[in-house]
Amino acid sequence: MYETNYHRADSLADAASKIGEEGKYLSGGQTLLPTMKQRLAAPSDLIDLSKINGLSGIEVNGKSVKIGAMTTHAEVANHSGLRDACHAISEMGGWIGDPHVRHRGTIGGSIANNDPAADYPSAMLALNATIHTDQREIAADDFFTGMFDTALKEGEIVTAVSFTAPEKCGYEKFRNPASRYAMAGVFVAHHGDAVRVGVTGASSGGVYRPADMEEALSDNFSADALDGCSVDEGDMLSDIHGSAEYRAHLVKVMAKRAVAAAH
Ligand SMILES: Cc1cc2nc3c(=O)[nH]c(=O)nc-3n(C[C@H](O)[C@H](O)[C@H](O)COP(=O)(O)OP(=O)(O)OC[C@H]3O[C@@H](n4cnc5c(N)ncnc54)[C@H](O)[C@@H]3O)c2cc1C
Repeated sequence: MYETNYHRADSLADAASKIGEEGKYLSGGQTLLPTMKQRLAAPSDLIDLSKINGLSGIEVNGKSVKIGAMTTHAEVANHSGLRDACHAISEMGGWIGDPHVRHRGTIGGSIANNDPAADYPSAMLALNATIHTDQREIAADDFFTGMFDTALKEGEIVTAVSFTAPEKCGYEKFRNPASRYAMAGVFVAHHGDAVRVGVTGASSGGVYRPADMEEALSDNFSADALDGCSVDEGDMLSDIHGSAEYRAHLVKVMAKRAVAAAH
């Protein structure tokens, strides 16, 4: 690890004032610290967000859900009100990594990082979530702009995510057996008038919404409705874990399982 300066911010304004041009925010550190240890990142300053009041916790009011950016995956998995409102996102939290990762890693860090194999981005798209920052609110559709890329400006801090709980939802992922990251993960959400689908882990463009699956499921919310849908393997990732052809197949299988889980 290269030398860095550690700061513990006590407010959002304090954090923003310390970030500078080469600094990085530190949430759970489950992505950033391993990257630094491998000398793949060398931030001049680490700004720890963990002691800023109001960034953590889950609020559920009827169908209205808000999750603070510093909320850990374990908290998402274990919050009974959230599980009642939107069980699929709780299951998602419980399937991330291992116990250490789940108790340190945060939802804000995960979506800010936008790893193409991370779980939450697919939920944010399917749930039509709003991403709250210290400067503005961003629709999930506009937030995820490509692999490891988001609409966040330099120094902007994710403070929370919010969404209206859908009528039905389901998430299924095919896990990489070593890391538990998604090789293909599909979140489906039935919002009454329409179905939204978020796919992670599979595409070379990062998380995406498959239009044909959404159309088919909006007409008929059943796994069989996906029979006529095809996934273009030309758009899929291909690496040591799986070929593009394999991932294209997995997307459809996971989508069908997610619909079954929603029922
Ligand atoms: C062994 C292992 C297995 C894993 N398995 C999975 C898995 O199955 N599924 C999955 O989805 N993830 C997985 N992860 C990743 C994990 O979920 C991380 O928690 C997550 O990617 C990053 O969250 P963090 O809080 O640790 O962020 P950090 O590592 O602290 O930060 C990540 C990046 O986001 C930036 N950042 C952090 N918080 C904010 C914020 N509030 N506003 C703006 N920028 C911010 C940081 O500057 C940094 O660039 C795994 C990680 C490990 C080490």
